[in-house]
Amino acid sequence: MPVEHRVTANRHITIIGAGLAGALLATLLAQRGWQVDVYEKRGDPRLKGYEGGRSINLALAERGLHALRIAGGDDEVMAHAVMMRGRMVHFADGHTDLQRYGRDDSEVIWSVHRGELNVVLLDVAEKAGASLHFNRGLSSVDFDARTARLSDPRDGGQHEVGFESLVGADGAGSPLRAEMAREIEIGERTEFLGHSYKELEIPPASDGGFSIEPNALHIWPRGRYMCIALPNDERTFTVTLFLPNEPLPNDSGTSAPSFATVRTGADARALFERDFADALPLIPNLERDFEQNPAGLLATLYLDRWYHGDRAVLVGDAAHAMVPFHGQGMNCAFEDCVALAAHLDASDDREAAFAAFQAERLPNARAIQAMALENYLEMRDRVDNDDYLLQRALEMRLASRHPDRFVPRYAMVTFRRMPYALAFERGQLQRDLLVELTRGHDSLDTLDWDAVDATVRERLSPLPADA
Ligand SMILES: Cc1cc2nc3c(=O)[nH]c(=O)nc-3n(C[C@H](O)[C@H](O)[C@H](O)COP(=O)(O)OP(=O)(O)OC[C@H]3O[C@@H](n4cnc5c(N)ncnc54)[C@H](O)[C@@H]3O)c2cc1C
Repeated sequence: MPVEHRVTANRHITIIGAGLAGALLATLLAQRGWQVDVYEKRGDPRLKGYEGGRSINLALAERGLHALRIAGGDDEVMAHAVMMRGRMVHFADGHTDLQRYGRDDSEVIWSVHRGELNVVLLDVAEKAGASLHFNRGLSSVDFDARTARLSDPRDGGQHEVGFESLVGADGAGSPLRAEMAREIEIGERTEFLGHSYKELEIPPASDGGFSIEPNALHIWPRGRYMCIALPNDERTFTVTLFLPNEPLPNDSGTSAPSFATVRTGADARALFERDFADALPLIPNLERDFEQNPAGLLATLYLDRWYHGDRAVLVGDAAHAMVPFHGQGMNCAFEDCVALAAHLDASDDREAAFAAFQAERLPNARAIQAMALENYLEMRDRVDNDDYLLQRALEMRLASRHPDRFVPRYAMVTFRRMPYALAFERGQLQRDLLVELTRGHDSLDTLDWDAVDATVRERLSPLPADA
């Protein structure tokens, strides 16, 4: 659908970071007639390849897809996306169970290759008229003079550029955020999860096809730790092992494995032999992957303020990095970009636009950050638990009996575009209801459905039609 734009002379913006959010925002603003300069620390991934050739993938959901449709990169991205219908849970005894995410194949998520997605977005941004400058890492900012100093990582060369406003799309470690914090109080807090992750790979099967069910997000939940695997277009899976950093007591009183105890490739093999036995034969280079790939830290970043007057504003991970367990960090960052472009376009007062953007997005970022943390517990510890399975069965039943009132929280976050804060609030009401209605029952057969329906009508108002 063509986007209508106001044509106003000399609206210029400088974006720091040409990752996922930076490239998308550049496109949205350039399409609206803005002059856009984007500065990226790394080299152009279209020339030198991405992430050392490793396949790292992300789950794309409706919020992110909607933003891509607006920007116009959706067809190319979706041509390589792999559908994931639900979670394939691999139980400790080796049996598996597919827990669908939605009602049918209209409610699914998509595994996309991070590097390819970035490349598509860079092409789209350039076609829309944005100027991309690679090998330019922001090192310092003079907000009064409105100049930014950038350095070239190849030779250390320094470059100074003037700006009207800066947008920090420079990721969780945002150098622009650090520069803002030197001038104003932004209320920055980082809460580390105490767990980290490592990526491993399942190659294609000997016949060149996928070696396990391709249309699922695989999970091996093991209490305080877990593995997941997402499919890639080239018939591989990217496996992510999540472990505590330090030993934690398991429910049994023994110590759960941790990155402090699983240190070498041989330790990793022993862990997989014991806890992920069905995954082990699928990962022929387990030792090499484990030893070569770095462990990534997981944390939630909270800020009270995302902008500095009319001079700078933060989006995506730079403003609100979150743990990855709802698969929403990029989706949320893309929603930020759509919102910021709309606010900037609607007002000639930049500070007012930044303030309106923060007022709209900050409460929603807090809500998805909280839900992402909760989802870690659910994925690693609850998906194989009987109470949880009964509550989920009731959830699905209520969703079909009361589609206008009861939409599972996962569906509100993943398949709809209602504000995250509304999904969070209703999700809590619904969870209380599920716990209450299943208390004392082992099966849905013993429920009094008239009473159940009456309770749902009494507690849950109909959702707004556009939610
Ligand atoms: C293990 C893991 C799994 C995840 N899975 C999902 C998922 O399934 N679904 C999902 O939606 N999200 C997922 N996420 C979250 C997602 O990766 C992030 O939310 C998303 O990448 C944020 O985009 P961004 O553009 O804000 O930051 P980034 O993608 O980090 O981009 C920042 C860019 O800024 C550049 N930069 C950094 N410093 C400078 C500088 N000084 N000057 C100029 N440029 C600079 C970087 O090189 C980079 O290109 C996951 C995250 C992790 C860690």
